[in-house]
Amino acid sequence: MWSECRACKRPLRSEEARRLGYGRDCARKRGLTPPKPRRTRAAPRPKPVFVPPAADALPGQTAIDLVFHQPTLESL
Ligand SMILES: [Zn+2]
Repeated sequence: MWSECRACKRPLRSEEARRLGYGRDCARKRGLTPPKPRRTRAAPRPKPVFVPPAADALPGQTAIDLVFHQPTLESL
């Protein structure tokens, strides 16, 4: 058992590190422990949902497709 890292002399705190004789980073550098898992890209944000125009929409109101965050004359 080791009380300090054999490479950088920092005190070892975890049981695994004391057994290896190396701290987490030094053990990783020497290939004693698997490399840090790589961060994966976050899931893309969902696209706005298309809202079909109301059945009673007046001509011209549907010229531009409405999405949920767009105000209508009734919502103002
Ligand atoms: Zn070390």
